Amino acid sequence: MKTIDKIYINGAFVSPRGNERFELISPTTNKKLGEVILGNKEDAIDAIAVAKKAFKTFSKTTIEERIEYLQKLKASIENRKQDFVNVMVEEYGGTFQFASVSFDYMIGSFNSAITLLNTYSFKKIMGESEVQMEPIGVVGIIIPWNSSNGFICGKLATAIAAGCTVVIKPSEMSAQQTQLILECFHEAGLPKGVYNVVNGLGEVVGAEISRNPDISKISFTGSTMVGKMIAKQAVDTMKRVTLELGGKSPNVILDDANLSKAIPMAIAAAFMNSGQACIAGTRLLVPENKLEEVKTLVSEIVSKTIVGDPKNQITAVGPMVSKKQYERVQNYIQTGINEGAEILIGGLGKPEGLEDGNFVKPTVFVNVNNQMRIAREEIFGPVLSIITYKTEVEAVEIANDTTYGLQAYVSSSNKDRAYKVASQLQAGRVQINKIGHDPMAPFGGFKQSGIGREFGTIGLEAYLEPRTLIR
Ligand code: NAD
Repeated sequence: MKTIDKIYINGAFVSPRGNERFELISPTTNKKLGEVILGNKEDAIDAIAVAKKAFKTFSKTTIEERIEYLQKLKASIENRKQDFVNVMVEEYGGTFQFASVSFDYMIGSFNSAITLLNTYSFKKIMGESEVQMEPIGVVGIIIPWNSSNGFICGKLATAIAAGCTVVIKPSEMSAQQTQLILECFHEAGLPKGVYNVVNGLGEVVGAEISRNPDISKISFTGSTMVGKMIAKQAVDTMKRVTLELGGKSPNVILDDANLSKAIPMAIAAAFMNSGQACIAGTRLLVPENKLEEVKTLVSEIVSKTIVGDPKNQITAVGPMVSKKQYERVQNYIQTGINEGAEILIGGLGKPEGLEDGNFVKPTVFVNVNNQMRIAREEIFGPVLSIITYKTEVEAVEIANDTTYGLQAYVSSSNKDRAYKVASQLQAGRVQINKIGHDPMAPFGGFKQSGIGREFGTIGLEAYLEPRTLIR
């Protein structure tokens, strides 16, 4: 039984002033793994004060120094892949496959930040003026549980590239994963106070970060509901906000798509990270006259999808992170049934033999219309809705008929046609005939999927303030 009883402030592991305990429960067995002692408002205030002090000198570091820090942070995690995979599998229930990809994403974040620093110009001439891109200040980083260390690396690497110091509040459910990355980062030996980490509840530690006047910017990843609360708090002190929020991503299968490629990819897109992914392709838009063919393929693939122990290297869908998340997914499956959608495969309850953990049956609905709640709301579990369309114009209309706009997918055997459709989709990122990640290109959402972008030059500039010198 592990107890995580330290937070990280000013370059050291320290005991939090808060004393509330939070139980860490295995999603796979529902047995207790350990406990975390949560930080409180005062801990958040301490961390912010330290980050503010460190900013004075860190903001003056050279590009070469920041590259060196990024290299050190990267090196500190590079040899611990197995440990990162193991702790993510154990604590979060992430599948071995997803945890491995997630580790590569962590490393990739440092690489892309280093590449940016080697090419980005912090001074530019615009018009007749010099524009200086200045680090924005102390950044509050608030993140969810579904890829905790991936988010820490992505946001911290960009902040360091920009010359900002940070206070990070991970999800309380990710305490063991946070502990591991902190042990690594500690070895990297960065100047004190550059990054500080406070475990704690959103309404306590997160809320303090959102309103504290010494935080200049919030980089948040999480639900649209909490994102709105943070943005409201942040505006009082005019904090800049980058909000990476929820999604209900459409996957448009055009009538010329090679279904034997497009449908397996569609299932992978829907069930990635056991369906607990903001970018999951959860609305599958198929031509009406291809529905029967699609149904046959989907049933075949989903019936072979391996659900179970996330440690198993061939498991595709692991447990939901918590009992609460399991219940949420069950409620949505019941909602789909009540709304008159038809279950093609899957359904309510746990798969046989997996009663101890928070496992759900990967579920696919047909006879779904885009106005049903299962087609409009983010479920955050392995539940896919198949929606039919008659024409390409209608497909685009349905795809865009959502309050979200994080990611979209298009499949076609004609590249020009796919490009034309992709260019009409209201989504921050559109995947054409593939599922990929480009860490040098912006990522983020249209509409209620967020504000701003991460990654690439646009992502870096979200941590900078332009100062124009008119000479
Ligand atoms: P959540 O919004 O409930 O929590 C996210 C973080 O916010 C947690 O650390 C939580 O403690 C904190 N928080 C909660 N209340 C707060 C408050 N009042 N003030 C400040 N902080 C507060 O999200 P979750 O359930 O942990 O994660 C799932 C959600 O995250 C989904 O909606 C998913 O789509 C979204 N997500 C988005 C992206 C993206 O890149 N767009 C990526 C992953 C997850």
